[in-house]
Amino acid sequence: MLKPKRIAILGSTGSIGTQVLDIISRYPGRFRPEVLTCKSSADLLIEQARRYKPARVVIANKSLYARVKDGLKDLPVEVMAGNEELEYAATLDEIDMVVAAMVGYAGMKPVLAAVKAGKNIALANKETLVVAGELILKEASKTGSKIVPIDSEHSAIFQCLEGENKKSVEKIVLTASGGPFLGYSYEQLQNVTAAEALKHPNWDMGDKITIDSATLMNKGLEAIEAKWLFNLPPEKIEVVIHPQSVIHSLVYFYDGSVKAQMGVPDMRIPILYALSYPERLQSDLPRLDLYKYENLTFKEPDRKIFRNLPLAFEALKTGGNMPCILNAANEVAVHGFLEGKTGFLQMPDVVEHAMSKTPFVADITLEILEASDYESRERAKDYLNQKF
Ligand code: NAD
Ligand code: MG
Repeated sequence: MLKPKRIAILGSTGSIGTQVLDIISRYPGRFRPEVLTCKSSADLLIEQARRYKPARVVIANKSLYARVKDGLKDLPVEVMAGNEELEYAATLDEIDMVVAAMVGYAGMKPVLAAVKAGKNIALANKETLVVAGELILKEASKTGSKIVPIDSEHSAIFQCLEGENKKSVEKIVLTASGGPFLGYSYEQLQNVTAAEALKHPNWDMGDKITIDSATLMNKGLEAIEAKWLFNLPPEKIEVVIHPQSVIHSLVYFYDGSVKAQMGVPDMRIPILYALSYPERLQSDLPRLDLYKYENLTFKEPDRKIFRNLPLAFEALKTGGNMPCILNAANEVAVHGFLEGKTGFLQMPDVVEHAMSKTPFVADITLEILEASDYESRERAKDYLNQKF
């Protein structure tokens, strides 16, 4: 009999994490949630552990250890706390696959540890490859760890490339919904609030990625993620605005053929693909009804208004620690915007400032990334404190 795939979900309480658990619960014989982790959502973690019966849970915030331990005292669940423990849980012998569903830079080190331990990765945390693509891939080539994307655009491209010779790829096109402020003028964007930015038209996601979608930084991060996943130079990566989010991305081949992958905007579909790859499992997830989409439209992104997109492409072309600098400053900017400490249009200024003030390093190591992340956050905070 087939043994279930034993899975560690890093970030099980988030938007992606809860959808991963939804998928896992539909195929009890195929997948087993072995480890669940989160940052601070103790009550949800307890509830998930009671329901899904993992062998272990890890809460990164150590001050919540006692609460989680107490909440699970009648169950045979090992409770751990802290960042190192979280990293360790991603490398355990009994884990077959790690789902990387944490948000931000914090998600990178556990993935690096898991890759070093030879685990296969279902990757949602795009910041991991943005910051440390080179290191992660180097380690993966040593250990044989396989990375399958969850991000819908990358899942689309991954699927379009199955069975293809990578040399025949002319370019890839990442589709972007354009977010809630598509078509807004500079003036209209001056006073938009975090609450307005959090209302994404097509996807229900965590706060950070929702803001990134509104500023188009999300697409910039995805371009950098694509460079590493598909080994493509910047000039072969394009972005198009496609507000219906039905075509998840496209690959152009050198014979003139174009492949696109489609589906309703529901992350559980690419999650299921990543978990079951190389197989496809039958599901009753929502089907695409073409008659509901009379018009599929495409347009160029407005790079003058949504300046995060060209900044991310600049970081992509520069390489070295620049994507790490971009990402760190963006995390500070998004946090500032969510707290009402900076305006929507100032977020790219914060990023640009940090990119110009943090020393550039071409050859990266983990230590250099740690230092660049710290330094960029400091420069971004200086800018925020000075200006607002
Ligand atoms: P979220 O904020 O809803 O959830 C984040 C999860 O990570 C939570 O479980 C949280 O407890 C945990 N976490 C956050 N910081 C942590 C830390 N410092 N230490 C330990 N755990 C921590 O985020 P999300 O929307 O689920 O996104 C997760 C990742 O997936 C992001 O990188 C995002 O860009 C990517 N992604 C998300 C979607 C989506 O639809 N939500 C789509 C594509 C890609
Ligand atoms: Mg995406």
